Amino acid sequence: MKYNTGNRINSKDVDNMSQVRTRIAPSPTGDPHVGTAYIALFNKCFARQNKGKFILRIEDTDQDRSNKKSERDILNALAWMGLDWDEGPDRDGAFGPYRQSERGEIYSSHIDLLIERKKAFHCFCTRERLAEVRERQLKNKEPIGYDGHCLNLSEEEISKNLEQGLQSVIRMVVPDEGECRFEDGLRGEVRINWAQIDMQVLVKSDGLPTYHFANVVDDHLMNISHVIRGEEWINSTPKHVLLYEYFGWEPPMFFHMPLLRNPDKSKLSKRKNPTSIHYFRDAGYQPQSILNYLGMMGWSMPGSREKFSFEEMVSEFNIRRVSLGGPVFDIEKLDWLNGRYLREDLSDHEFWEQFTDWSFSQNRIEKIVPLLRDRVEKFSDVIPLVGFLFGDPPSISRESFNHSFLSATECLEILQLSIWELEKIEDWQRGLVENSLMSLAKKLNLKPKEFLFPLFVSITGKPISISVIEALAILGLDLCRARIRESMAVLGGLSKKNEKALTKKYRAMSE
Ligand code: GLU
Repeated sequence: MKYNTGNRINSKDVDNMSQVRTRIAPSPTGDPHVGTAYIALFNKCFARQNKGKFILRIEDTDQDRSNKKSERDILNALAWMGLDWDEGPDRDGAFGPYRQSERGEIYSSHIDLLIERKKAFHCFCTRERLAEVRERQLKNKEPIGYDGHCLNLSEEEISKNLEQGLQSVIRMVVPDEGECRFEDGLRGEVRINWAQIDMQVLVKSDGLPTYHFANVVDDHLMNISHVIRGEEWINSTPKHVLLYEYFGWEPPMFFHMPLLRNPDKSKLSKRKNPTSIHYFRDAGYQPQSILNYLGMMGWSMPGSREKFSFEEMVSEFNIRRVSLGGPVFDIEKLDWLNGRYLREDLSDHEFWEQFTDWSFSQNRIEKIVPLLRDRVEKFSDVIPLVGFLFGDPPSISRESFNHSFLSATECLEILQLSIWELEKIEDWQRGLVENSLMSLAKKLNLKPKEFLFPLFVSITGKPISISVIEALAILGLDLCRARIRESMAVLGGLSKKNEKALTKKYRAMSE
């Protein structure tokens, strides 16, 4: 294997690099998240500003959690937002493949090299042993992590174990004293004690690399010059810096961006707010306004101008001026900005054209018309019947959930369980929505009509309407989840205690 050490420049000199190459490296394990678009935006903007390249790499080494649908969704969502890439799994580039699951041989030759250099070692510890170590460390209030048990196995012992087919992982050697220092482009020098850093597994027992290993090898081989990523990775960076050192490679420059926050300052999460790009698409936002809004997270245009295009951001951007205070992703503010785009950027004709594309697409209309034909007597009955498919449902109150049989708490439980159940559907289709909800109703010993009542109210705003299953299928998971959440809030929400109990009940039901 020839190592591509290329013309790497010491990380201190990256401001003078000949070619800037940045990347977004999503793991395809769920919905396309606005946080991914936010990091992609800053990477793409920085690359454009420096006449460099922006790369998309799919980090799918976690075979249990990665799936093709999520990969497709992420690619489509980033493209929809205008965040397309120069190199990636779907286009040519000199540094492919751009999907980690297709780079197996590269990782195995690289791990061999680390083993040869005694910077990585086979670990045969069983799960039970690791659990005991952890328990002991917890009890003695010691730092939690691998205790180095297999660090000094002899060559003979290792060969014997491997011949016997004992399961093993490969871990990296980590110094046990001193500190790791690395430069973060936004924070200056970061220091983390090696004692806090675990002997990270680099290759799992199934032979697949972990994130840390594959990520470093790929960033190097893909000539990534600047790693701009979320601050949740800071504590992993010592492992990465150490791997660069073991290989004898110059590390890229690291910039850890502040995480997006909910208005209450907690980390942005789909439990509290819509976070999927699909939600914003389905709710009828302009992709340019979301991009503009994400550009205001942690950075501001000179003169604090709030409405700006990607090109304007590129010409004014200065990565050193990203500020570290947790930026709040506030949907009300986004709504205000989106309104400006609709008012200021679209002619009446464009407005109507885009609105009808969004709401009355052929595909949607074909699903909706058969549902309403038998239920109306004149066209003026249509909007009152299915208006909720084109905009927010009529507003509801606690009383809307009054039911002869179900209490408010039971309604809340049905709603929460439905969210969890619906989130499990990988390919959103009417049949699957119906099956998953009906099997939930059965497990709860409820008649379909009773079970569906709180969903009717949440989704359509009324106790009676077209089939709520059809409505769920047409609206999609993201809009439905947001409506169900709002209804739960109207009902006073589940207390922490009730939610915990319900999680337990759901787990037992799903077994
Ligand atoms: N695959 C990682 C993620 O999903 C990439 C982190 C990084 O940019 O290094 O966020």
